[in-house]
Amino acid sequence: MKKIFAAVVAVIVMTTAFATVLASSYVGNAKTKKFHYADCSMVNKMNPTNKVFMNSREEAVAAGYVPCKRCKP
Ligand SMILES: [Zn+2]
Repeated sequence: MKKIFAAVVAVIVMTTAFATVLASSYVGNAKTKKFHYADCSMVNKMNPTNKVFMNSREEAVAAGYVPCKRCKP
């Protein structure tokens, strides 16, 4: 039974981690200091090392990021 319990816990932890990534609805570019909706086409072209995930627009603005002119977050 202990093995089953460990497996269930592992699934819950993974699901929570995945949900956290999905909850980051905004992505900032550390290089250009612009932020985008996570589904903006610019995000796909962005260098992964420059990506900064954010949960809210306020968080992005407070960090000094400006909204992207294309997706207007
Ligand atoms: Zn954008």
